[in-house]
Amino acid sequence: MTPTSPDLAPADAIVRRPWQPLSLLLVLALWLSTLGNLPLWRAMWALTDHHSLRTWLGLVGFALIVLSAITVLLSLLVWPRWRKPAGVLLLMVAAANSYFMITYGVVIDPTMMANTLQTDVREVRDLLSWSMVAVLALGVVLPGWWWWRQPVQKLPARRLVGRQMGLAALAALVLLVVVWASFQDLASTMRNQKSMRYMLNPFNTLYASARLVIGQTAQVRQPLQPIGQDAVFAPATLAGHKPPLIVLVVGETARAANFGLAGYARDTTPQLRQLQSSGELAYFANVSSCGTSTQVSVPCMFSHLGREAYGKNDIPYENLLDVLQRAGMQVLWLDNQSGCKGLCDRVPNTNTLALKDPALCPDGECFDEIMLRVLPERLAQLEKDRGAGPAPAGTVVVMHQMGNHGPAYYNRTPNNMKVYQPECRSNVLQDCPAQEILNAYDNAVRYTDHFLAQTVRWLKSQPRPAVMLYVSDHGESLGEKGLYLHGMPYMMAPKEQTHVPMVLWLSKPLQSQLKWDAHCWKKQVSAPMSHDHLFHSVLTLAQVKTRLQQSELDVFAGCAARSP
Ligand SMILES: [Zn+2]
Repeated sequence: MTPTSPDLAPADAIVRRPWQPLSLLLVLALWLSTLGNLPLWRAMWALTDHHSLRTWLGLVGFALIVLSAITVLLSLLVWPRWRKPAGVLLLMVAAANSYFMITYGVVIDPTMMANTLQTDVREVRDLLSWSMVAVLALGVVLPGWWWWRQPVQKLPARRLVGRQMGLAALAALVLLVVVWASFQDLASTMRNQKSMRYMLNPFNTLYASARLVIGQTAQVRQPLQPIGQDAVFAPATLAGHKPPLIVLVVGETARAANFGLAGYARDTTPQLRQLQSSGELAYFANVSSCGTSTQVSVPCMFSHLGREAYGKNDIPYENLLDVLQRAGMQVLWLDNQSGCKGLCDRVPNTNTLALKDPALCPDGECFDEIMLRVLPERLAQLEKDRGAGPAPAGTVVVMHQMGNHGPAYYNRTPNNMKVYQPECRSNVLQDCPAQEILNAYDNAVRYTDHFLAQTVRWLKSQPRPAVMLYVSDHGESLGEKGLYLHGMPYMMAPKEQTHVPMVLWLSKPLQSQLKWDAHCWKKQVSAPMSHDHLFHSVLTLAQVKTRLQQSELDVFAGCAARSP
């Protein structure tokens, strides 16, 4: 006799009832609007400390809005043919966004998205951690595995489209009604908490990607626009003139708050301080950055447009280096970071990050001093390439630093230069006591101090008048207000991310060549200025004249003599 009772049937014989397509879609919508949006809910919860009935009602209303918006999105996007991969992709987006939002206090806006897309292997390595693996396992692997294995009823296409569109319409209706009912509270929250709109997964990613694609296609469609075509080298006097050597150091993630010369309690810039006492070096105390990320700031620094116009611009313009080159300067870009963001496309350039030097590149990545190591040979090469061509009016060298690139600040300093101990040696900054994060960060500032002083020493050894201008691309949050790293949308970025250090060293020979006015210089060091001033001020240091130069944006307008 064979057992007939269903109770005795083996487990694998249990027929799993396949899901209704819409029910499965709703399960995904529920997951995404709750667990997939934990950072958003955490931020909403933290908005008030007294959780009254009104707060609760507000939260429930907001939850309905999120759920119905996600349901509309899923009903429109997820269809049988790509149901499985689409679900897993959405889980991945939600988990990865949530991890970065909670770990570093960032939000997902178009700039952050651009940074992510330009990330290289080294930067990813800097971010990897066990907590990231855990988040991906819980947020992607487990629910994704479940999602992939669910049997789903097959419906005739027309019926499925009808039902799914019906669900979308219903969810849209709920969305409208709840938004209308809670409009007043909602509008004021969104006005006061601008970052929240970049926290809603997966809409933040969709919005940022769309903005990037639109911006990039607009750029690609247009040819490069020349600027400063009238640029000429026009020194104040040709008597005893020698072609100057101009070094621009683009700093990375150094904030003014931790710069010794800015009055920071720790003397993180002892070598620059010593140079300052010689009267050849000045610190500019009041400089703000163009953006809060490398991606925005670095191109903006070399642009003639200034922050506001740069933010709205999608015409591909030439930059400061093209203008200097056109005026007869020899230009060289050395990059010890992720690249020049297109700025050095038309000038000689070298990436030094992966060079081999046992002392300066111990773990497959080079400290900033590597740029000084290769500089003499690269300059010699430029001379050789020039051959019998006309002598350059001067030489401009840009050095793009690794500086204080985070979160692995401890990787930015050689072992024998770690003054502040103990250092945070984790890339999950929250795992470290605040003091250890500060120690690692300050050690990197101190290494930049060393690097800049070495640069000045080298320039002093050259038989040419010389200048070094250093300015950081943006600042950094080190846990203030719960924020880490940088990349906050500019309008809500804290000062730690936008107040940057700037240093000018000007050799005595170049001072006399420029007929430099020391009083003017003294006055300018405390004047408020920004990356907007860089383009116009470097032209004066290089003694290049063009109608494009705006004297109100030239920090040195009153300090250097003009050519007649
Ligand atoms: Zn940067």
